[in-house]
Amino acid sequence: ALLITDKCINCDMCEPECPNQAISFGAKVYEIDPDRCTECVGFYDHQTCVSVCPIDCIIWDPNQVESEAELLEKFVRLHH
Ligand code: SF4
Ligand code: SF4
Repeated sequence: ALLITDKCINCDMCEPECPNQAISFGAKVYEIDPDRCTECVGFYDHQTCVSVCPIDCIIWDPNQVESEAELLEKFVRLHH
């Protein structure tokens, strides 16, 4: 899963782009629900939130490293 850092400026560009509805406004900045973020596996070959973020504050969460197979499993669980 990906992670939004506290550098986020709450521009709301990423939220509508997420195919898994994993992004929402959190306590101070936008947040990604790791249970819903498939790193866009199942939809796109790139991460749409990363593509649209104007300040590059979305990073790979070092504590949520997942394999392609695990991400695909999450996609199937969310959408079937
Ligand atoms: Fe959503 Fe894809 Fe970003 Fe994960 S990587 S939060 S699934 S847009
Ligand atoms: Fe924050 Fe980037 Fe999303 Fe804008 S696009 S709300 S700066 S994470």
